[in-house]
Amino acid sequence: MKRTRFSRRGGLTRDAEKLIVAARGLGNSGSRLEDAFWETQLFGLADRMLAAGNEDGLNAALDALYRDDGRGYEALADMVEASAESLQVDEDGKQWDVLMFAAPALAWSRFSIPAGTISGSALAALRVHLGAHVLAAGSRFALANVLWSPDQLPNGFVETRELVQRLAASALKEHDLVVDPRELPETSPFLSDMRYVIGAVAVPRGEALFRWQETDGSRDSATTAWTSQGHAAMQALFSGCALEVLLPDAFHSACRQADRRARPYSILSSVAFLESALEAKPSTLRAAIGGFWDKRLEEFRVGFSLAGETAIVHGVVWPLLDAEDENSDVPQQIEALLRECGVTDITVHEQRFPLEYCDDCGAPLYPDPDGMPAHAEMPEEEQPQPRHLH
Ligand SMILES: [Zn+2]
Repeated sequence: MKRTRFSRRGGLTRDAEKLIVAARGLGNSGSRLEDAFWETQLFGLADRMLAAGNEDGLNAALDALYRDDGRGYEALADMVEASAESLQVDEDGKQWDVLMFAAPALAWSRFSIPAGTISGSALAALRVHLGAHVLAAGSRFALANVLWSPDQLPNGFVETRELVQRLAASALKEHDLVVDPRELPETSPFLSDMRYVIGAVAVPRGEALFRWQETDGSRDSATTAWTSQGHAAMQALFSGCALEVLLPDAFHSACRQADRRARPYSILSSVAFLESALEAKPSTLRAAIGGFWDKRLEEFRVGFSLAGETAIVHGVVWPLLDAEDENSDVPQQIEALLRECGVTDITVHEQRFPLEYCDDCGAPLYPDPDGMPAHAEMPEEEQPQPRHLH
């Protein structure tokens, strides 16, 4: 049960108020020593609020800073994420640092992208490559035995911390964590999507967590090894899918990397999908790009149609990330990417589209070449699964 423990009517909890003071202090600090002072306070408070299940208090503090103190907000967001994804524990008379990590993969398929339980042999193969190329020698680690979709990831900081605690106990014993996939929400089918293998690594306090922190390691060599050998181990989980693997990293950082990479990947996979499903060469496709607004610009959407037609056969949502807004060059990035894929008939609409979805199925509406929002429908003779492609 998630409730704010010390709720005061219409105000912030005492811990949330202290958190704001410390985050503002860290945002304005001019020295490493002052940083360390505020960080210790923030870490202690965030840890206590996570342990108490006080998700609302953490979010209230973040909201309050977001409104008027960008640096304080960044400082607090970093600290709360770090606190949620890591732990310090005592075991076997030693103190250990534990970090939750994720190994993201981007996949697309005309049929369905797997989720759910990972077989024992596939998990063992992943362990070998993570141990050899990604995690530090001598670390202990555990993997959860499920392939997670984005809508199955822990919902919030407190759930993240709860998963880290379960993984930490497994990591110290070097067992994998058994998760019942029935505990997780249903996965919606998409043409292209992300999946994550999640685990935790435990090392004696202060020692290297990752291979690239070691004197003979680097991120570049880890990336090269993982995208070849790790890719082969991951591909075994994704039969019938095209796959791109990203370097595993700390949970929040890996998820952010995956969110960023998923945007161009969804464009590339859509062009490849239309070529394979409709035999439509990229040079015969039309693409329309539009910004979709609620109170502010929320996202861009790209509608694809066939040569000489305006009916939308497929569409892609390109969410905004970080500080992107209507002044960023996102439409130009999308256009450049489409051109790299061989699409030349591209319309960038200047108008503001309303953030609309289909009343029946909830699918987003996409801009057509004439600037009308439209439902994507594959031509009748070609109706692959899933019915609605996003
Ligand atoms: Zn619909």
